[in-house]
Amino acid sequence: VNGVVFDAVNAALADLCREFRELNTGHLATYIPPLARADPSDFGIALTSADGHRYRAGEANKPFTIQSVSKPFVLALALSELGAAEVFRRVGAEPSGEPFNAISLDPETGRPANPMINAGAIATTALVPAATSELRFSRILETLGRFAGRSLDVDEEVYRAEAATGDRNIALAHLMRAAGSLTGAPSAALDVYFRQCAILVDATDLAVMAATLANEGVNPVTGARVVPAPVTVQVLAVMATCGMYDGSGDWLLRVGLPAKSGVSGGLVAISPGRSGAGCYSPLLDAAGNPVRAVAALAELSRELGLHMMHTS
Ligand code: GLU
Repeated sequence: VNGVVFDAVNAALADLCREFRELNTGHLATYIPPLARADPSDFGIALTSADGHRYRAGEANKPFTIQSVSKPFVLALALSELGAAEVFRRVGAEPSGEPFNAISLDPETGRPANPMINAGAIATTALVPAATSELRFSRILETLGRFAGRSLDVDEEVYRAEAATGDRNIALAHLMRAAGSLTGAPSAALDVYFRQCAILVDATDLAVMAATLANEGVNPVTGARVVPAPVTVQVLAVMATCGMYDGSGDWLLRVGLPAKSGVSGGLVAISPGRSGAGCYSPLLDAAGNPVRAVAALAELSRELGLHMMHTS
């Protein structure tokens, strides 16, 4: 019986891949050369169930840099180490209604709006306890690897390009330091953040990472606990309202799942208690979300009744 179920899910993903590969709207990120060189026709989709079964279709094993999809997983690490009271004292939990790289800090507290925009993510990264920034990055790389169920590497070319062109992020870090909302030196926080964005994953990794959040913090493939269960609830709540840039409201309406997208075309979506999805499609819409992934997950959510506001 199981074999039949596996085949049916793989066939459904293959259908989605075929159907939405035709969608050729959107644009590649071009702010650094390695992202501008992505193949615009790529589309990979992977699903991992909360009991550890894995499904995939299309370019689900093509490596790309995780970029902003790292943000919820680093938030999970910071929450595990410091607790929600301390983290949300330093970074807010409100959708900003402004672009991801906006220079927007609370005028009174200097606090960034939420951990999914760049300012909030840089501040969150800096909160991860470690004696040096090298050790802080090692902890982040190791934690993301535990979410993925394998050890991950950094794309050095992307890291260097991020660091060389990251003026807005550099400005944000200095403003937060001046406002008292960033701990430590801006250059150290930024170096870890740029490396974190350049971690290499594929859609299959993202599906396992998402399924770990869906499975209350236990990686369903390795069986290892990565973060405490209450942390996953906090992370999923922030993802639901802030995960899809300025398209977060429209996404929640259409798809109804906590999610996070990134500028290289990665996306994770979580159906709590059921499954995690990972996608790769480098063509982005006006909000910065991967066009094919959004369309395919809207369809999958409809077909499987995954919208979180459903009562059954
Ligand atoms: N490294 C990118 C930046 O900080 C990530 C942007 C994104 O994926 O939204 O600008």
